[in-house]
Amino acid sequence: MIRAIRGATTADENTRESIFSAVQELMARIMDANSLDTADIADIIFTATPDITAVFPAAAVRGMGITDVPLLDMAAPDVDGALKMCIRVMIHINTEFGNDQLRHIYLKGARSLRPDLAKKISVAIDGPAGAGKSSVAKRAAKDMGYVYIDTGAMYRTVGVYGLINDIDVINKPEDIVSELDRIRIDISYEGGMQKMYLNGADVSERIREQDASMAASAVATVREVRARLVELQREMAKKGGVVMDGRDIGSVVLPDAELKIYLTASVYERAMRRYREYIEKNMECDFESLRQEVEARDKNDMTRAESPLVQTEDAVLLDTSEMNFEEAVAAVEEFIRKAEEYSAV
Ligand code: C5P
Repeated sequence: MIRAIRGATTADENTRESIFSAVQELMARIMDANSLDTADIADIIFTATPDITAVFPAAAVRGMGITDVPLLDMAAPDVDGALKMCIRVMIHINTEFGNDQLRHIYLKGARSLRPDLAKKISVAIDGPAGAGKSSVAKRAAKDMGYVYIDTGAMYRTVGVYGLINDIDVINKPEDIVSELDRIRIDISYEGGMQKMYLNGADVSERIREQDASMAASAVATVREVRARLVELQREMAKKGGVVMDGRDIGSVVLPDAELKIYLTASVYERAMRRYREYIEKNMECDFESLRQEVEARDKNDMTRAESPLVQTEDAVLLDTSEMNFEEAVAAVEEFIRKAEEYSAV
């Protein structure tokens, strides 16, 4: 039975090298994903948008040693607003497989042509307090069409429950356990912002105050609190397409995440960033106490018995001490793009 496999990609530039490398990558990925042998191929048809003029895409296939297969290059119609520098392929194969077993491959810019096939991955971002995880993760998620889940906000919400109910969470965090059934956390996304509700009340701003950070870090040492929140986080990540940040995402919450990033920066730099944030929001603060707080939270997070903050072996390290915000976002987006391509079979 003759069947057709589809694929598409984009070339970075209109040069022989760029077109060859795009076509050869596409062909290799299709052949690999479908376990194809050259002998299975009946013919290959390429179309290229009119801005591809440096070389015929089919020439790249000859360069891969596929010499006996009939090839055809065609020009795609010059359609307004169409994707630029796009090369599409249709490969006819001899196969026993049904259409539903064939793997079609869309790479690089061409992923946007088939969002139904483009696999969105799960991204775990861990790292110490104040490294810029949330703002970087939030922006990268927005740019790449992912849902951003801030798990620190959940621990902060539990901490705030303790603060407003006069529970001494700093010295006796375990006292929160008997209250857990009275704590309802709801999360909603409004205009891309994650809003936190504690028993129906909007605490999105309250949880950002300085006392909420230490309260969060304290209740986060309690096993029962973690079990409850980890369950909620896994449920939210079930469908994939999430960028989740926290301390234990790669190690405990999503150990199978396709991409794990350990995002960090020096203590001084992290305290300085928090300081600037507070000043900008006209909130009261003092640099030295912020620096001590960063150190105290690091100690709490890294040395606690329950799910301490660690860089897992399979996580990539991103130290942003010397990077500005845009550079950190670009680095994370590049990691996501690579991981998506790697797992887009
Ligand atoms: O990231 P953020 O500063 O909002 O987190 C507040 C606190 O919650 C952290 O200091 C950490 O102790 C705790 N946390 C955690 N596990 C997570 C996220 C946050 O223990 N996944």
